[in-house]
Amino acid sequence: MTKKDTLRIKKEYLEKIKTLKNYNNYYYNKNKPIVDDATYDGLKNETLELEKKYKFLKSKDSPSQNIGYEPSKNFKKVKHKTPMLSLNNAFDREDLENFEKKIFNFLSFKNNNIEYSAEPKIDGISASLFYKKGHFIQGLSRGDGIEGEDITKNLKTIKDIPKILKGKNIPDEIDIRGEVFIRNSDFEKLNEKFANPRNAASGSLRQKDPEKTKKIPLNFIAYTHGFTKNFSTTSQFEFLKYLKSWGFKINKYNKILRGIDMLTKNHVELEGKRKEIDYDIDGIVYKINDFELQKRLGFIANAPRWAIAHKFPSNKSISEIINIEIQVGRTGALTPVAKIKPVNIGGVLVSNATLHNEDEIERKDIRIGDVVTVERAGDVIPRVISVDFKKRKNKTKKFNFPTKCPSCGSSTIKDYNKITKKFDAVRRCTNDGFGCEKIAIEKIKHFVSKEAFNIDGLGKKIVESFWDLRLIRYPQDIFNLDYKKISNLEGWGKLSVANLKYSIDKKKVISLGKFIYSLGIRHIGQENAKLLAKVLKNSDNFFDLGKENNFDELLNIDGIGETQIKSIKDFFFNEKNLTVLNQLKKNLTIVNEKEISKNGILNEKTFMFTGKLVGISRAEAKSLVEKNSGKIISNISKKLDYLIIGEKPTSRKIMEAKNQNIKVISQSEFLNMLNIKNS
Ligand code: NAD
Repeated sequence: MTKKDTLRIKKEYLEKIKTLKNYNNYYYNKNKPIVDDATYDGLKNETLELEKKYKFLKSKDSPSQNIGYEPSKNFKKVKHKTPMLSLNNAFDREDLENFEKKIFNFLSFKNNNIEYSAEPKIDGISASLFYKKGHFIQGLSRGDGIEGEDITKNLKTIKDIPKILKGKNIPDEIDIRGEVFIRNSDFEKLNEKFANPRNAASGSLRQKDPEKTKKIPLNFIAYTHGFTKNFSTTSQFEFLKYLKSWGFKINKYNKILRGIDMLTKNHVELEGKRKEIDYDIDGIVYKINDFELQKRLGFIANAPRWAIAHKFPSNKSISEIINIEIQVGRTGALTPVAKIKPVNIGGVLVSNATLHNEDEIERKDIRIGDVVTVERAGDVIPRVISVDFKKRKNKTKKFNFPTKCPSCGSSTIKDYNKITKKFDAVRRCTNDGFGCEKIAIEKIKHFVSKEAFNIDGLGKKIVESFWDLRLIRYPQDIFNLDYKKISNLEGWGKLSVANLKYSIDKKKVISLGKFIYSLGIRHIGQENAKLLAKVLKNSDNFFDLGKENNFDELLNIDGIGETQIKSIKDFFFNEKNLTVLNQLKKNLTIVNEKEISKNGILNEKTFMFTGKLVGISRAEAKSLVEKNSGKIISNISKKLDYLIIGEKPTSRKIMEAKNQNIKVISQSEFLNMLNIKNS
């Protein structure tokens, strides 16, 4: 390996560690993770793999050297008498087989039917409780595993934690360890916003004021011990019985199991029960039951050799549909959403999952009460992927999709597509827009969204509350808000009202392209809006479109077809839209689209994207093309020079492009054209 290679690998390794450290800070200290657990675990594994492959890689900050988080300065630091360690993970049967094989090798056992204590892995925050002669003396958080935070006062507010142990055989001294957690149903009632119950539990437990902790209904389940004085037992299960007799809660799903077959069967069963359990579990911990064997096996790095956490898949989970609600979107599309029993998927508590459209419900025969598998991949909205028909209760009824709009009661239709000769899968409200409350709210949300007017401080929730307070009904109302009334609302101070006014006033000047896009005309996305602005040149020409009725001229614009023209016509033939336009005209200065430089690197070249780009948004990529004098087009035609493919591209587009001898290039090839490093 050359010196350059070594340096490159070191740099890559240290960058990964730096990113993990940042994620840890948000997760453990701020209780606001910025990535999901699957992303975190993926990066952690990559780092550990690098360490395994290149022995010269070492860092004191590596995940192989560290557990958890550095104790916060808010609390006294106290050393654990026995360290509080982490657990190694297993994700599938093969991982379990390897775990068992290593144990057998270490103990020189031959296919011994070893006994495990299988315990649900509660996704909370661990705590260590020191009892002297049965009295609760001090409680610590895990901290970095070596030193914890003294959170005794906060722990004393938890009613599941006995202040005095009852029963027999109480040790002189013992550290009881277990999980502090919050129930999903209580989590949903919390006012403070946390991504998931684990973060809420951690945030509540590790705050300075015990009075605040007291207000949050925290629970405690005990599962092991650390240091002990004058106490001995022979097995984990026997110890769990002691815990119960002393007054602790233990998990009712704990089991004694033998062999990988039984472990995996129990794993599947418990995964199915997750939806009924009112707290998050993210897997099952298997511990060798016999304490003598545990002692012989000992520890590797920062986890015991005698235990493993068998995780549930991090992007899927099983739940039950409680209800099916119909949401009405900006273009009138009726989207069915399943309200499900909340389940943790990859660190996020999911209680809604999309069912896409009427056809999807029909095709999969999805019903209220069904047990379903829900998937949450990346940042995409969680979706129902399948129904477990074996678990369907008798007498459930087929779901009747409404034929009237649930918001305004108008009739609904499915568009007929002349090209495919099929009806659209999506049903739409036929109301012409502002007459349907839900459509109107969505239109206003779109109007102020990032890509449109981009008004700071006027997010979706505020639009909804202003709507409820009748402060807005149409887009133009945003420019004539009753600030006096707003300043009297709860949560609004003088400063926040002044800030809102400032950000709205700042946006009274807008480019024609953005203005057209903000109107939310169906089929007129950012690109088409820009194309229209370029051709129409100024706002008067745009406003006159309706008057002169010369829509067909727009057909000459590359990318604008009959569908778009019909949509623009519909927009201009609607009286209410014309009023909105007139009012907006009075309030705004609409400037012409800037001429784009003609001598950039991509001059005269045309581009189209398919699939998800990595590390860069579609909007940014498009703006890069334009900044460099290239052009974006939205159809595959002879005019297209490059089709850029991201993740999960549409294969039909690639085939079409190849048939027409259009260059198909990857994201990195595209960025290379611009001399941009693809990170
Ligand atoms: P871990 O949470 O995976 O496993 C160890 C913990 O399991 C113990 O400390 C204990 O609290 C808990 N546990 C629950 N039930 C138990 C039982 N019956 N017996 C023993 N222990 C039990 O390990 P970790 O090192 O604390 O944390 C890693 C986890 O945190 C990963 O899942 C990771 O994805 C997540 N994480 C996420 C981010 C992020 O940014 N999303 C950042 C850091 C960590």
